[in-house]
Amino acid sequence: MIKTRFAVSPTGFLHIGGLRAALFQYLFAKSQGGTILLRIEDTDRERFVEGAVENLLHSLDWAGIKFDEGVVLDNSSNIVQNGDNGPYIQSERLKIYQEHIKTLLDSNKAYKCYCTKERLDELRKSQELNKQPTGYDGKCRDLNGSNTNDPFIIRLKVPEEGITEFQDKIRGKVSFDNKLIDDQVLIKADGFPTYHFAVVVDDHLMGVTDVIRGDEWVSSTPKHILLYSAFDWPAPNYAHIPLLINEKKQKLSKRHGDVSVEDFKEKGYLPEALINFIALLGWNTGDDREIFSLQELEKEFNIEQVGKAAAVFDRTKLDWYNKQYIMKLDTNSLADRAIPFFVNTGVVKGSGEMGKWGNEGIDLKKIVKLEQGRASTLVELVENVGFVFADELNYEPELLVWKKSTREDAKDKLEELLQILELIPEEGWNQENLQKMVFDWIKEKSYSTGDVLWPMRVTLSGQKNSPGPFEIANVLGKNNTISKMKHGISIL
Ligand code: GLU
Repeated sequence: MIKTRFAVSPTGFLHIGGLRAALFQYLFAKSQGGTILLRIEDTDRERFVEGAVENLLHSLDWAGIKFDEGVVLDNSSNIVQNGDNGPYIQSERLKIYQEHIKTLLDSNKAYKCYCTKERLDELRKSQELNKQPTGYDGKCRDLNGSNTNDPFIIRLKVPEEGITEFQDKIRGKVSFDNKLIDDQVLIKADGFPTYHFAVVVDDHLMGVTDVIRGDEWVSSTPKHILLYSAFDWPAPNYAHIPLLINEKKQKLSKRHGDVSVEDFKEKGYLPEALINFIALLGWNTGDDREIFSLQELEKEFNIEQVGKAAAVFDRTKLDWYNKQYIMKLDTNSLADRAIPFFVNTGVVKGSGEMGKWGNEGIDLKKIVKLEQGRASTLVELVENVGFVFADELNYEPELLVWKKSTREDAKDKLEELLQILELIPEEGWNQENLQKMVFDWIKEKSYSTGDVLWPMRVTLSGQKNSPGPFEIANVLGKNNTISKMKHGISIL
């Protein structure tokens, strides 16, 4: 059975590229009826960040990617390890690595290297100076059996000749000349394994059949394959997915905007929109379909259809996706999802659960509907409807004047309109009635619609762009509408 893995270093946050790797690994496994595990690669102690694992797991959980095995969150959000091949945290597997390195030393496939950092620095400098490829020169390769007590590292004895090749599911056949492969370090001076050693031992012992990862790991793969053969283990299948770049063809980095999954969550992107968007970064079904739920992706995904070229992370397209998904939500769920954002801005006080906010008379459903179909993110939505909560709006009187009209005319129209609206009873205060009453009157008087609806809308929203006046009046209710219009009249 197919088994993939998300092997992640807890360096602080989940990069969007990491989420894409996890998604492709997940989709590949699910599309073949397989499973996926999550492993924490924390052997680089210098890069370890407190709380990073929790962060990672929460981000993945938010995105909807569930793991069958490995490090997961339980129902109470505690970190637990699931499965028979654990531990799934590399720093808890040191004994396993020690046992396995012994096998390689005994079979003369690996060797202890006593070279000092100074010697290695010197070596690199002189190689650079002589324009030679940099790498270890093999000084300790044949020191067999040396028992000195000096500190050492352990290196793989890479064959000096031949080629190492593999069939990549995306890139096709990839070959490397062994001459150019360094005698890579397997165990560091602190006794910890390197990434290369741990990843091979773990993938093998955990039964991983398919390694799917970012392109930046391609040059590591021959090292891994050599290690598999040193152990006499079959190597897994490989697929290296192309990099993500920004519109300027640069690597996606924090310097150029949001890159962590948490950033996108905080900006009010819906997980299903983000997932849909990143699934189509470098992959498509070959037709023009663009909208896929995670369940649909699980059925449709095919790793061989992933393109070889770097994929552009087009933020405008992401906004388009998010807007589509916001539009598709039923208004109750939209209100539900927007609550934390309303709570953040302070206009809604509440526990964050649907229906539990404290402010009286606020119907979030009606309010979010104003922007459903207009806003691209939940943050934008909440900002855009901020005027609904304001007691008094702040805007320049000129804003109330439609095109070639005048302040006097705007004032006259608003005053007349106020009289019409006051006639509508509270029970009949709804969008349809309002619209009908106002339009009948406009027609009767042969006014231009702009001269009436523009100032009306601005008194209610205080903004140049906003939802229509009847939608807003309906949300505000009769008293609030009347008082906002009176304020508009008073400043003209
Ligand atoms: N620990 C590596 C990372 O954080 C995993 C690379 C791999 O998938 O082999 O990206």
